[in-house]
Amino acid sequence: MPALTLAAAAARHTDLVRVDSRTLQGRCQFHEDTSSAGTFYVSEHQGVYNCFGCGSTGDLTGFLMRAEGLSRDEALRRAA
Ligand SMILES: [Zn+2]
Repeated sequence: MPALTLAAAAARHTDLVRVDSRTLQGRCQFHEDTSSAGTFYVSEHQGVYNCFGCGSTGDLTGFLMRAEGLSRDEALRRAA
């Protein structure tokens, strides 16, 4: 099984649109994002997400813990 990417994990929770070769954008799942394009960005080359609406930020492990309610150990295992 290929390693899970942050973009793939985030795409399970929100519709992501490609902004450029390294960036995806969508609605944030961590706050009530009513903007049309969304304030949630995934930087594929950095492997981090950022929300300019609520300030959420983190890597794949952090995303899985927060979005899917996993423990750190579970998230690390899932991200491996
Ligand atoms: Zn947000």
